Amino acid sequence: MKDIINCSKAEKLIPKYIKGETTDAETIRLLDHIDSCDSCREELTIQYFISEGLDNVEELNDYNLLKGFDSKIKTSRTDIKIRKNARDGFIACIVGIVVVLCMGALTVVL
Ligand SMILES: [Zn+2]
Repeated sequence: MKDIINCSKAEKLIPKYIKGETTDAETIRLLDHIDSCDSCREELTIQYFISEGLDNVEELNDYNLLKGFDSKIKTSRTDIKIRKNARDGFIACIVGIVVVLCMGALTVVL
């Protein structure tokens, strides 16, 4: 089941997300929320623009900011997927090793 958060929780996560301080779970919750909540999406966009705008005042350009914002969200999702797949792959590998070891032990016993 999806972990749904409300707007006030999403609003608290927005500044953390922009600073890159959210955990994977928090990022997923926030991104899922803004997918279905226009006002939080707008809030995230505004806060992102402000933070990016202040970081690169000389190249302040709406088009670039919008592109940067979209790519930040895409990157967050991709990174989480990659980390999750790596984790699942690692667990599958450990399970495989344990199974092989158990079978080996059984063969020795029998
Ligand atoms: Zn919301």
